[in-house]
Amino acid sequence: MPEILYRKWRPRSFGDLAGQEHVAQTLTNALSTGRVAHAYLFAGPRGTGKTSTGRLLGKALNCTDRRDGEPCNVCPSCVDFLAGRAMDLIELDAASNRGIDEIRSLREKVAFAPSGDYKVYLIDEVHMLTDAAFNALLKTLEEPPPHVVFILATTEAHKLPATIASRCQRFDFRRIPVAAAVATLEKICEGEGFTCESAALELIARSATGSLRDATNLLDQMATSYGKQLTLDQVRAGLGLIGDERSGSLARIALSDDLGAGLALIASVRDDGLDLRQFQKELIEELRALLMVKSGLDPDEGVTQERRRDLEAAVASVPVPRLLAALRAFGEADLKQDPRALYA
Ligand SMILES: [Zn+2]
Repeated sequence: MPEILYRKWRPRSFGDLAGQEHVAQTLTNALSTGRVAHAYLFAGPRGTGKTSTGRLLGKALNCTDRRDGEPCNVCPSCVDFLAGRAMDLIELDAASNRGIDEIRSLREKVAFAPSGDYKVYLIDEVHMLTDAAFNALLKTLEEPPPHVVFILATTEAHKLPATIASRCQRFDFRRIPVAAAVATLEKICEGEGFTCESAALELIARSATGSLRDATNLLDQMATSYGKQLTLDQVRAGLGLIGDERSGSLARIALSDDLGAGLALIASVRDDGLDLRQFQKELIEELRALLMVKSGLDPDEGVTQERRRDLEAAVASVPVPRLLAALRAFGEADLKQDPRALYA
């Protein structure tokens, strides 16, 4: 996967950082008050902005015209960072450089002064380091030179030795909410001259389950396959999803006791040659969302107002036990063998 769009649209300032406002806020505060830590631990799922934030921090630390903690993006240092040729940013992928030698050579470099204000070491997937490498790293973290900032990024923070973790200021990166991912995708579409139905962008964001990198790469793929004008149907087809709204309809029919309508709908899905197992998964997902809304919860992080209202209307007069029974029935039913099982 070339990740062309993802690279092109990486955030250039903390304000652009999607879905991680708490991180952006704390870091810009630290930058504007001169309280930047010597070591940071960025923990969280893949594709949520850990590496991008590390690079942003490196850029902001070395920017000669920083405003309110934000890099200017025009000074010579910022330009070097944007072009990916900054001498003061040293990135190490611990997944492929796990050993003591890499950390030793890193420790040797730490001794040299930066060409700008700070040398920033960004170690990705840091939990992959060997014990010997961790020990070497620990020595550096124990006596950090004043001009050095370490950023340790990991998807599995629990695998880090406590001695390392305790020397870092920790940030937990959360999964990107659907609404924030959609907003970023909209920005990319605008910049790239794509037109894409908003329901299609929402579907892409939902499929990416909180990873902005996955969402952006999916958009990239769709545009490569279908061109610059994307419809909901194309995105559905591209994602291998059932090509219609029938799972949502059946969920509602199941709650209404209309046996005939339910059976007819299942038959039509089967006759269209669609994957009934996938259809059933989507059904259960829809019922789960209905139950969440009925219980006063958000079905998804960042659910749109429109969808929420739609779900609320669907369950307004449905008692909770009925929803639970439907969920149970759908969970156990084998639609292929016996669609009537749903109504047992
Ligand atoms: Zn600058």
